[in-house]
Amino acid sequence: MQRNEVYSCPQCQALNKATLSQTSILICKSCKSLIPDPQGHQALPDASPMPEDWSFLKLGSVCDLPQQSFTIVGRCRLQLRNEYKNFWCAEYASGKALYVVESFGSFAIFLSPWADYTKNASKLRAGKSIEISSDVTLTGEYVEKCEGLSFEGELGPWAFIKPGFFVVQASTGPKTAIFFIDPKKNIDYLLGEKITSDRLNFKNTIEWNEWK
Ligand SMILES: [Zn+2]
Repeated sequence: MQRNEVYSCPQCQALNKATLSQTSILICKSCKSLIPDPQGHQALPDASPMPEDWSFLKLGSVCDLPQQSFTIVGRCRLQLRNEYKNFWCAEYASGKALYVVESFGSFAIFLSPWADYTKNASKLRAGKSIEISSDVTLTGEYVEKCEGLSFEGELGPWAFIKPGFFVVQASTGPKTAIFFIDPKKNIDYLLGEKITSDRLNFKNTIEWNEWK
């Protein structure tokens, strides 16, 4: 898809604009079906409707940091066995994508792109030291299976479209990483930082009295 190009939904003909320089998923804002793209995913097998949850973020929320502001354009919600994670995709700096990951009111921001994890996969467990690079070692916090996926809006690079993969979270201080391990043992991860919602300074959010 092309940034700033408008795509007509093949199901309902609603017009949807792509805002990222690299879009892998674009979901129609009206009928919630996938708008297929030759370079992106052609289908989202086993995707579930987006459930109501208690997030105060929505598509169009803006995060205003001193150096940069960014706008939420889409999300993938992972239903894990014991919790959930919202991977909010945000557009900044004219088409770049980043992810803000939210779980029960805690936030982490991931500016760096998805990377392949090529080190020892057996270390990706709770309580283990997980080496990312010569100067970054994290401690595994938990491993959970992804049991459901829901998508809305526009996502930048995103390879995992079927539930059943494992999610590992590891952190040390503010540094944090989230690993996705698929059944064929391909491992992708994001490395970023935990951040408080005050510091993210969100605007255009859902007020508490708008919750249904
Ligand atoms: Zn549609």
